[in-house]
Amino acid sequence: MYKTIGIFGGGQLGRMMAQAALPLNIQCTFFEASTDCPSAALGQVFSSKAENGLAKFIQSADVFSLEFENTPLADVDVLSKSKDLYPPRQALAIAQHRLSEKALFDELNIPVAPYKAVDSLEDLKQAITDLGLPIVLKTATGGYDGKGQFVLRQHDQIDQAWAELGPAGSLIAESFVIFSREVSIIAVRGQNGEVKTWPLAENHHHNGILSHSIVPAPNSADLQPAAQDYITRLLNHLNYVGVLTLELFVTDKGLYANEMAPRVHNSGHWSIEGSVCSQFENHVRAVAGLPLGSTDVIRPTVMVNIIGQHPKSEDVLALNGAHLHLYNKTEREGRKIGHITLMPTDSAELTTLCQQLATILPNPLALTQDIII
Ligand code: AMP
Repeated sequence: MYKTIGIFGGGQLGRMMAQAALPLNIQCTFFEASTDCPSAALGQVFSSKAENGLAKFIQSADVFSLEFENTPLADVDVLSKSKDLYPPRQALAIAQHRLSEKALFDELNIPVAPYKAVDSLEDLKQAITDLGLPIVLKTATGGYDGKGQFVLRQHDQIDQAWAELGPAGSLIAESFVIFSREVSIIAVRGQNGEVKTWPLAENHHHNGILSHSIVPAPNSADLQPAAQDYITRLLNHLNYVGVLTLELFVTDKGLYANEMAPRVHNSGHWSIEGSVCSQFENHVRAVAGLPLGSTDVIRPTVMVNIIGQHPKSEDVLALNGAHLHLYNKTEREGRKIGHITLMPTDSAELTTLCQQLATILPNPLALTQDIII
């Protein structure tokens, strides 16, 4: 059995992976620019800026994984000469480029919004002719939390959109999807090919950043089979090991895939308390070649992100049944610095808890009044 997992990245996802690994007596090490990162409390951090940092990191562990999806492929290639990485390089390479990702979805018959590659102003104009307006113009690489995107609604915005995103390199234009809500599905695949899936999460965003997730997504029984089928196709095609996330739009024509993340995901943090085996523990189990744990839900759960500013811990912990996770990050506008898990017994208690939480959290909470569990 593996004793040490080396993780590319040292943020909160790595921190929570290492927290899940500890009871299994599995240590984690991390590879991150700054050694003062959220994962540092849980294991040794090797600086990617230090001389021979990568070589030392590779020596530090038996098997490797990642929590940062823009992990440089060049680093992965050096690693692969001597050690295994889960998930596989191919999954990472595809997820790092929106056009490759969409091509894979097409190949596996996973529905996506119509899209076009855009490499010039002429391409952009042609894409508008082909797709119609509105479109969402996105950088093919490097975007996150809604950054690197432009919603183009009118022809007179073309020059502005091109001025903003054109210099970023390869772009993708997608038809604007009219969706009723956004959901995500998370699944884990073991080294023996076994797949386990969590229920769909319903995700709510504020300023492009995940504000909260409700699990199971209300009224999602009809959507779950298709979502499960899509993510299983991806996992098996990629011969994937570990946790994979697929973000989806719910439309009146069914589910449309938006993007995949080859890692544990913010919309899966609920599973630490809400599932028999969390996304973090199951990822560790998969990477270490251990049997996977049950993905059953213990209780419907709402996960609320703490963004920008810390609430008072004592206020949060005074809420009935609330769990608080702080990432040891400094406060900065728009930065995810922690999350809160609520596990109400019914919708009435959830409404009360959400009202109380809204008065405690410094960040504006886009908590809807109509959360139904
Ligand atoms: P992404 O970086 O692709 O996850 O996009 C960030 C957010 O932009 C998504 O969560 C959606 O709310 C919105 N979005 C992205 N693509 C589209 C699209 N094709 N149509 C409508 N909204 C979109």
